[in-house]
Amino acid sequence: MITTLKKDITVEDICTGFVYNALEGKGLFGLAGKLTIQPEYQRNYIYATLDSGKKEMDVIGSVLKGYPIGLIYFNKVSESNLEVLDGQQRITSLGRFVTHKFAIKDENGMEQYFDGMAKDKRDKILQTKLLIYECEGTESEIKEWFKTINIAGVPLEPQEFLNAIYSGPFVTLGKEEFSNSHNSNIQKWSAYIKGSANRQAILERALDWVSKDWKDKNFDPRHTRPIGKYMSQHRYDNNINELKTYFDSVIDWASNVFIDSKKEMCGLEWGRLYEQYHKQPYDPAKVSDAVQRLYGDPYVNNRKGIFEFLLGGSVDTKLLDVRVFDEATKKSIYSTQTTKAESKGISNCSHCAIGHDANKSKIWKLDEMDADHVTAWSKGGSTAAKNCEMLCKTHNRAKGNQ
Ligand SMILES: [Zn+2]
Repeated sequence: MITTLKKDITVEDICTGFVYNALEGKGLFGLAGKLTIQPEYQRNYIYATLDSGKKEMDVIGSVLKGYPIGLIYFNKVSESNLEVLDGQQRITSLGRFVTHKFAIKDENGMEQYFDGMAKDKRDKILQTKLLIYECEGTESEIKEWFKTINIAGVPLEPQEFLNAIYSGPFVTLGKEEFSNSHNSNIQKWSAYIKGSANRQAILERALDWVSKDWKDKNFDPRHTRPIGKYMSQHRYDNNINELKTYFDSVIDWASNVFIDSKKEMCGLEWGRLYEQYHKQPYDPAKVSDAVQRLYGDPYVNNRKGIFEFLLGGSVDTKLLDVRVFDEATKKSIYSTQTTKAESKGISNCSHCAIGHDANKSKIWKLDEMDADHVTAWSKGGSTAAKNCEMLCKTHNRAKGNQ
């Protein structure tokens, strides 16, 4: 790879012909059309939303104070065509400021747009020279290098990284659908998926679901995940039909089975749940009643588990992390039971007491017993002292397995 250091390109040069696409949230061109600011493998512009825009104001503040804003790298595609390799966020900040997209605060805390600033300050910004390396190399050299840099102190999310590695028509279409902040579906999707669409969280989940990445989490997340394999196989596709159809199927299924919107739904493994349960029929009205009942149940510790608990036929109570009896309750029940048993000369485990072996009259110690729900929690029994009985460990286990 050949690199040439350029020291005479000014902010004004860069911002000539600057175009910002508000719809896609990205800077497009600069240097009088010669520079492509966001080539396909770059991530979305995130400075405007990072720290409520403080990042992009900091870029302007640094330039005004004469501080360096760091090295910028261009990829020289041809004599008349450069792409930003590193510096997209900073260049877009400069371009957006000069074209009045945001204001900075001056020393008195007053908002200042570029047009309203004193001429000497405007000139200072426009005449600032940037340190730019122009790199020339093969696509793989450029991308290998891109992988190793950490853009302007904001590390790439794993999916941003994968988008860079597998850039092409498939990624472009995927980003248009899943990380376009003007897509009105994003709000609906965000009820099920955690993270920022702009930072590729929804695209990542769509790929995770269609590639069944959730089955295989033990490998290096950046290289050997099924997501990467899927992206590589579809890299030059001119459509995202399969990705989109599968994603819609999962979301439609989840929103049809669970008609209530609950915040605990966000971030569940919907792809896995879909694969596991979508062939079973559910009555959404009954499911909704059950959801409401479990949300109102003070013994359910893990609300996130409610959805899979219901999908699986209300059997696996472990998913709900049902509250257990506390130590004070156990002790007090133990002492009542034991006093009573001793006076009758029978075992303090009611199951042992009706048996025919040597344990018939055995008095167990507290730590040899466990608390049991007399009426099972799943049949409406509460986790209160009146529903607690101490059983020897063997009988408690036997009862739990019924
Ligand atoms: Zn027993």
